[in-house]
Amino acid sequence: TDQKRVYNFAAGPSTLPLEVLKTAQEQMLNYKGSGMSVMEMSHRSSAYQEIFDETKATLKRLLKIPDNYKILLLHGGATQQFSALALNLMQTGKADYIVTGSFSGKAAKEAAKFGDVHIAYDGKENNYTHIPTQDELDIREGVDYVHLCENNTIYGTEWNYVPDTKGAPLVADMSSDILSRPVDVSKYGVIYAGAQKNMGIAGLGVVIIREDLIKPHKENIPVLAEYDTMAAKDSMYNTPPAYAIYMAGLVAKWVEDQGGLEEMAKRNEKKAKLLQDYLDQSDFYNYPTEAGSRSRMNVAFTTPSKELDAKFVKESIAAGMTNLKGHRLVGGIRASIYNAMTYEGVEYLVNFMKKFEEENK
Ligand code: PLP
Repeated sequence: TDQKRVYNFAAGPSTLPLEVLKTAQEQMLNYKGSGMSVMEMSHRSSAYQEIFDETKATLKRLLKIPDNYKILLLHGGATQQFSALALNLMQTGKADYIVTGSFSGKAAKEAAKFGDVHIAYDGKENNYTHIPTQDELDIREGVDYVHLCENNTIYGTEWNYVPDTKGAPLVADMSSDILSRPVDVSKYGVIYAGAQKNMGIAGLGVVIIREDLIKPHKENIPVLAEYDTMAAKDSMYNTPPAYAIYMAGLVAKWVEDQGGLEEMAKRNEKKAKLLQDYLDQSDFYNYPTEAGSRSRMNVAFTTPSKELDAKFVKESIAAGMTNLKGHRLVGGIRASIYNAMTYEGVEYLVNFMKKFEEENK
């Protein structure tokens, strides 16, 4: 059956390491002699508690999360945090949002329901092909936090520096590049991510939050959005997304076994370079993302016409690849090449692209 697996370039949920899937398969019916699947376990059992603790511990080791941060494993993916962040962190009711793509725009829109949101930068006029420099940011003094999206899944841009926020805590959506390179967690107040791209499967949002930012919750907010309650109950106020947490643990362990985040960064650089160098030298494909702003995770490009884009997608499927169709907002083609995409997978894609170019130019 391994031979039948396709090269899956989906933006999320996305391809998983084969080793992780095999472990999950081996443990599917009888997890370590417990006589049951992880899916069937009580989240209050000691066997599950061990899985839960180990997932957190592995993430802490990998990301070198300092002791004054809490890791919350929550329902609702990243989008749930668009609201929860604002509900918890807007202590004086003011936050600045840097909009570099679709999801950061959605995060800002959600937060604006709950307070005074100022857009510190909007990449609309350059069609989100650019990550702003420090000088381009209009950050207010004394806001509760500044929000950015570290990697823009749809447009394919990624931050390569941590901006100065005039003393306000920096909140980062790392949904599509967490665990892809080392991060200095201490520079952030909150890091959050949906798990289904680089960290496992859908249903789980990971929140890494500096303890002093966890304040007593306001009275009228939904209980599952209360960071203080979730921290006090170690994310088990209610039944957690138990299987997704188990899968995140397997993925994190895989990353560690491969050599950790330095090794992931090296592999991801190499994969992205192969694809991006090819795009840059080609006068057939158009890759509009600005050089210093390019994502190593999502590469969005086009052929000379919409007809050829469609033909490309169709032929790529016949060649054993899937999910290369660009996001409906931008069209064209997008290759998502997260940690679990192999170098061979990217090489296979580039060879296909060369052949397609020769046949269609
Ligand atoms: N933020 C980013 C950067 C994303 O790529 C996504 C993708 O789905 C989201 C947020 C939304 O995440 P979720 O679907 O887990 O709510």
